[in-house]
Amino acid sequence: MFSEINRAIRSRGKSRDFCRVRVIHFQPGRFELKLHRAFRFLIVSAFLLGQTNPGIVFSQGAAASNLDGFTSEGSSAERRWEDEFRIGPAPNSAREHLRRLTAQPHVAGTKEDYSTAVYVRDQIRSYGISSDLREYEVLLPYPKQPAIVELVSPHRERLTAKEAIIPEDPSSSNPKIIPLFNGYSPSGDVTAPLVYVNYGLPPDYDALKKLGIDVTGKIVIARYGNSFRGVKAKVAEDHGARGLIIYSDPADDGYMQGDVYPKGPWRPASSAQRGSVQFLSTAPGDPLTPGKPAVPGVPRLKIDEVKTLPRIPVQPISYGDARRLLEPLRGPVRPKGFQGGLPFPYHVGGTEFVRVHLKTVMDYQVRKIWNVISRIDGDEEKDRWVVMGNHRDAWTFGAVDPNSGTTAMLEAARAFGSLLKKGWKPRRTIVLCSWDGEEYGLLGSTEWVEENAAELKQKAVAYLNVDSAVSGSNFGASSVPSMWKLIRSATRDIKDPKTSQTVYQQWQERARDEQPDPELTNAEAGSDTSIAEARIGALGSGSDFTPFLQHLGIPSSDMGFGGDYGVYHSAYDSFYWMSHFGDPSFAYHVAAAQLWGTLAMRLADADGLPLDYRDYALQVREFFEESMKTARRRKLAVGFDEKAMMNAVQKFSEEAERVEKARQDTVAEIERTRVEASDRHPRAVARLQRINDALTAVERSLTDDRGLRGRTWYTHQIYAPGTYTGYAAQPLPDFRQALDDRNTENAREALDRIIAALNRATETLKGATDTVRGQSAGTSPPSSP
Ligand SMILES: [Zn+2]
Repeated sequence: MFSEINRAIRSRGKSRDFCRVRVIHFQPGRFELKLHRAFRFLIVSAFLLGQTNPGIVFSQGAAASNLDGFTSEGSSAERRWEDEFRIGPAPNSAREHLRRLTAQPHVAGTKEDYSTAVYVRDQIRSYGISSDLREYEVLLPYPKQPAIVELVSPHRERLTAKEAIIPEDPSSSNPKIIPLFNGYSPSGDVTAPLVYVNYGLPPDYDALKKLGIDVTGKIVIARYGNSFRGVKAKVAEDHGARGLIIYSDPADDGYMQGDVYPKGPWRPASSAQRGSVQFLSTAPGDPLTPGKPAVPGVPRLKIDEVKTLPRIPVQPISYGDARRLLEPLRGPVRPKGFQGGLPFPYHVGGTEFVRVHLKTVMDYQVRKIWNVISRIDGDEEKDRWVVMGNHRDAWTFGAVDPNSGTTAMLEAARAFGSLLKKGWKPRRTIVLCSWDGEEYGLLGSTEWVEENAAELKQKAVAYLNVDSAVSGSNFGASSVPSMWKLIRSATRDIKDPKTSQTVYQQWQERARDEQPDPELTNAEAGSDTSIAEARIGALGSGSDFTPFLQHLGIPSSDMGFGGDYGVYHSAYDSFYWMSHFGDPSFAYHVAAAQLWGTLAMRLADADGLPLDYRDYALQVREFFEESMKTARRRKLAVGFDEKAMMNAVQKFSEEAERVEKARQDTVAEIERTRVEASDRHPRAVARLQRINDALTAVERSLTDDRGLRGRTWYTHQIYAPGTYTGYAAQPLPDFRQALDDRNTENAREALDRIIAALNRATETLKGATDTVRGQSAGTSPPSSP
């Protein structure tokens, strides 16, 4: 699918829309940075100075040069294996994987999709790694015929609703390219007046209402952008519309951004964006088996019992086609923010003057999909899993989305294979997952997570997602705060192919360039390093990390190299596009494989898991402060137990600090006692195991089995996709939602649950240090726990 990262990491100056999203939803924007700095200044005495600054390495004597969580011996061994690993991935074989994976369109559930599953499995087996298919039976609609979109009045005109063949791109004439459609649109046949609803989000309908425009019984046309498309469907339906047309405005990813394909990388006039309109913010996965794996014998809902799919027909069109519908519209002219990039003033319509006919015919069936699950067993901790995941299914050829990521996974697997032959034995198990059915609504990952929930809750250390690995050269990442330091440290060890710098430096420099804030002097802003630190975003949804983080509470990350990418979910997301625009040398595919594998190796091999909850505490506090600002602005800040929340955060922070120190000390003690061959050694090892177990369990403590209000599949109390964003995160989701709904009762209850979750997380951390206190480091006398 598409995570917000893709937008965030577009080249500078092209991320206008995204910026707006970031400010509202805690993505790393200028506003947030200001807040971050001001906040840090205020809490210097409460939190430990500098240690929340990711630029400062937490170090203890000799450990300073060690990889985080490794003894010096372990660290140098790890560095040797990692260096060896990073030699593995190669541009030529990456190119060959991508060529093979994108040879045919491979929509979930088709035989071409099955072929890609077999290709991935057989490749991974050929590297000496065990690999198997896992099948699920899920509800999957395909269009039975191309949709009809026609202007009925003021004159009759049938739109093309088809992407043109581009002579330069040989695959664009492939007859198997699926017609333009939205996944999970129902069949429908509607003729009605047309209303232009801008992005199709609640504020847009409010603006229309003020102009006296009612969309009940009408067909609405919305532009893509600012939210997941399923949100647009839900909002249109809730407002009484009978049909929804979504088009790609040239201002978003067409000619307003630059040259269009095949001259440039941006969307040409006939191209449209396919994509799912499932209500992702309510629940992802197979719509018929919510919360349960879609395997034979599991009871299925009837289609009319399903609450996560739209009931009105939804259809994507190109801006070439949209122009035919929008230009004749009358009614009020461009309310604030409604104007897009087509060369005429946008009217909102709503009169009988423009009438439109929309007809979609879908073939809904329960069909098979295939995950490919591969496994490298851990040598010492087989029952601790580091999970890497990427989806494989695509709307068409999927050169960027998602098979640049599949290619990176295959290259990482190939390099793991050669390490194994040379004697590398990861301490923990590495699981590599190639998901199916992601584009329809994270089907493959969700069903697998639901099937293996109990085992994952016990064994999973972290989940590392890569969806679109490469559409350019700009690195971006989102993750839980406990993984920030780990991600930054790994990017410091990967070379950026284009410059002679590291990926970290390139990323950091872009971050610095992107925050010119003339109002802030350095003194106001804090130190230079902190201003320049590349920020890692919050996880919302739109890719396969969602079931791991937001259903089970497994620490997760998502990352990729972004760029000027205007062919998203179109027939032109092809090998030709990639080899002419995205990554002609395939060097970024190699970098993605190196980085992803390095992260997995560090998590798999470290003695003490490199998860740091001090950053998490700081982040939660920022989220809360920001929410309270909103509350005060809306005069809702009465009756919340602000103090209890601040206390909970403070305790969580203090405990995180203690565990971090214990982890560092215990790793040092293991090193020392091993050299001394002391009988304290096994006890230190056992102690570190308890610390690791606690670090693994903290994220789980932040979930609440009762689930979020009105969407119980989502259990995480800190991170969820926004109800009205879908892609972008809505941190402290129920609390924020209650504030948006101006419901103080709900807000109070949500805050109580968040406080309880934080207290549980603190208790989990205490489990690690209670037995450690007073006997950490080598100076304390040996004592039995
Ligand atoms: Zn994708």
